[in-house]
Amino acid sequence: MYTRVWIPDPNEVWRSAEIIKDYKEGDKSLRLKLEDETVCEYPIDRQGSQLPFLRNPDILVGENDLTALSYLHEPAVLHNLKVRFLESNHIYTYCGIVLVAINPYEQLPIYEQDVIYAYSGQNMGDMDPHIFAVAEEAYKQMARDEKNQSIIVSGESGAGKTVSAKYAMRFFATVGGSASDTNIEAKVLASSPIMEAIGNAKTTRNDNSSRFGKYIQIGFDKRYHIIGANMRTYLLEKSRVVFQAEDERNYHIFYQLCASASLPEFKDLSLTCAEDFFYTSQGGDTSIDGVDDADDFEKTRHAFTLLGVKESHQMAIFKIIASILHLGNLEIQAERDGDACSISDEHLNNFCSLLGVEHSQMQHWLCHRKFVTTAETYVKTMSVQQVVNARNALAKHIYAQLFNWIVEHVNKALHTTIKQHSFIGVLDIYGFETFEVNSFEQFCINYANEKLQQQFNLHVFKLEQEEYMKEQIPWTLIDFYDNQPCIDLIEAKLGILDLLDEECKVPKGTDQNWAQKLYDRHSASQHFQKPRMSNTSFIVVHFADKVEYQCEGFLEKNRDTVYEEQINILKARNFTDLFHDEKDSMPAPPVGKGTSSKISVRSARPAVKAANKEHKKTVGHQFRNSLHLLMETLNATTPHYVRCIKPNDEKLPFKFDPKRAVQQLRACGVLETIRISAAGYPSRWSYHDFLNRYRVLMKKRDISKNDKKQICKTLLENLITDPDKFQFGRTKIFFRAGQVAYLEKLRADKF
Ligand code: ADP
Ligand code: MG
Repeated sequence: MYTRVWIPDPNEVWRSAEIIKDYKEGDKSLRLKLEDETVCEYPIDRQGSQLPFLRNPDILVGENDLTALSYLHEPAVLHNLKVRFLESNHIYTYCGIVLVAINPYEQLPIYEQDVIYAYSGQNMGDMDPHIFAVAEEAYKQMARDEKNQSIIVSGESGAGKTVSAKYAMRFFATVGGSASDTNIEAKVLASSPIMEAIGNAKTTRNDNSSRFGKYIQIGFDKRYHIIGANMRTYLLEKSRVVFQAEDERNYHIFYQLCASASLPEFKDLSLTCAEDFFYTSQGGDTSIDGVDDADDFEKTRHAFTLLGVKESHQMAIFKIIASILHLGNLEIQAERDGDACSISDEHLNNFCSLLGVEHSQMQHWLCHRKFVTTAETYVKTMSVQQVVNARNALAKHIYAQLFNWIVEHVNKALHTTIKQHSFIGVLDIYGFETFEVNSFEQFCINYANEKLQQQFNLHVFKLEQEEYMKEQIPWTLIDFYDNQPCIDLIEAKLGILDLLDEECKVPKGTDQNWAQKLYDRHSASQHFQKPRMSNTSFIVVHFADKVEYQCEGFLEKNRDTVYEEQINILKARNFTDLFHDEKDSMPAPPVGKGTSSKISVRSARPAVKAANKEHKKTVGHQFRNSLHLLMETLNATTPHYVRCIKPNDEKLPFKFDPKRAVQQLRACGVLETIRISAAGYPSRWSYHDFLNRYRVLMKKRDISKNDKKQICKTLLENLITDPDKFQFGRTKIFFRAGQVAYLEKLRADKF
């Protein structure tokens, strides 16, 4: 039998070949036969250090845990995932502690209630890999170790994160269903349609793309029944409210409401179809194949009702949504050679009447800006572009406030006074991103992934050590890639974020000056580069890839300025008359500034009053804080990892594009885990399983002995001369890479 190897291929990434002439030291090439029978010379360097990767024996291909492979490297991982996916339609595979999930783009009959019951109470190793198995493992460990758990789902857009997170939640709702009639499981599940309506949108990658990250903690009592839940959200993409790229849409809720505009209760919203509004029509087609926005709107309303949001409050939410659409349609005309503007049309009337704000003041402060210096306060007119920018900033602000209010409301509805014994958190957060043009958003997302990857590496590393200790085998030092230097570059003192904040405080700060400061300060860093051809971008060497970020817009996005005067008008508004029920105890959705859901019921202030001087935290600063809090939470739980892979860009069922898959396996750290485990003893067999499989290699008189461990020892010491290649643990034998393949070969020769 010839040695089978993997060689690089531009299309398939890796292709199979056989070495048909034995390699001798000093050979400059290998003679290979490819699968199509052609023979080629494969160049290698003198030392033979570029020998191709070896293929695994066939019996191991299709294994449901990749760490069972004897040769553990990228081509082996890719091949195994592909075989499972294409030949047996298995979308789930373990890779050590990670569940790899490949999006099938087809409804599979593997998520019914009876499947949940089948997985409930089982051991992970006894069942096919599944999201339910991971959920069961978390549930079991929560009870066994009395410890909080997390399920961390990551992957690129469209890979299946949100679907996986929902299945995990459904599992908990089923197995942790309470006997009481609080309906709390149904409420926990009802948070999904609400969050999708206000936080998901159609993008070119995913018709239902989540434009925010979320961490949902499901609370359990001491009998492990669900008692409530709480959600934290991360970085809503606000820019989508005012702008959508070709073939994309704004948040679903806008279209849902427009599709239902003709209902009698919405007459006052003065809405028509989504094509008529600037904020919902920039992407072109306003519909999504297979989606009925009016139907979905009913589902959203139903979910609101289930969560106890009363009709009058729902109406307030819809009024705010409608007001944003009218705001986007304002007709802004230039006056006096273009250095001043005026606005007067029905949309302004609609906006003001929906929010109940004072028309003349709004009109004035949409077109003017106040400047406060130490000496004086003065008011200036704005150009059309300035007015448009300020208007867009206001729209984004109103939407973000509404989003936060709804999140808070959902949390209140899911809150319980029963004592929480423990929780399982599910993190559904955007994976690593590299686009043609990368901006502040990608920077934040990749920063988050850098932190999550570090947490993951440390966890894998720690588990390996613990396993060695538990099995009492000698300590082996595994070196692993620690991305702390890259994280420092971003978040440490005078790192990228600090310098950005500083530049935002300088009155004449610019993106360009900030770039210069980055070059001056960080050029020596291993993880930072200045592109040769550009003075307006910088490169960060992330664990997954090098990414070039365009500096333009960073300051603006980090500051996230809204004009104080416009906000003050909204704040001055007493929102209680949006509600029929004056004695309502629940505060209405806020439109003013601040994160509290409390509406400030102040009397209308004179518009000309010194601008509020409280210093607002920058977006980068807030994000850093919320990430730290997230990491603290995750570190105090037992983590479980799900990595979602998008197998092709056409959203076709069971089509596997190896190039895209490899790209994602590299970016999500699966290959890094493999490297950590391959550096130690990647293959582990219990003495029992080992004896069963390799009995044929033993001598009769050895088998008859009773001590399984001793039989294995005698056998291995005979077969493998290098004692570094294996270790005998308490319950398992640990093998270096390649040893199981060698044993397999011996075994095959026996038959
Ligand atoms: P992400 O949250 O990673 O951006 P989603 O979870 O929204 O991606 O998944 C995108 C789409 O892929 C879904 O709308 C669904 O059509 C399909 N999909 C994802 N996971 C599955 C699955 N397990 N089974 C069938 N289809 C899936
Ligand atoms: Mg999603």
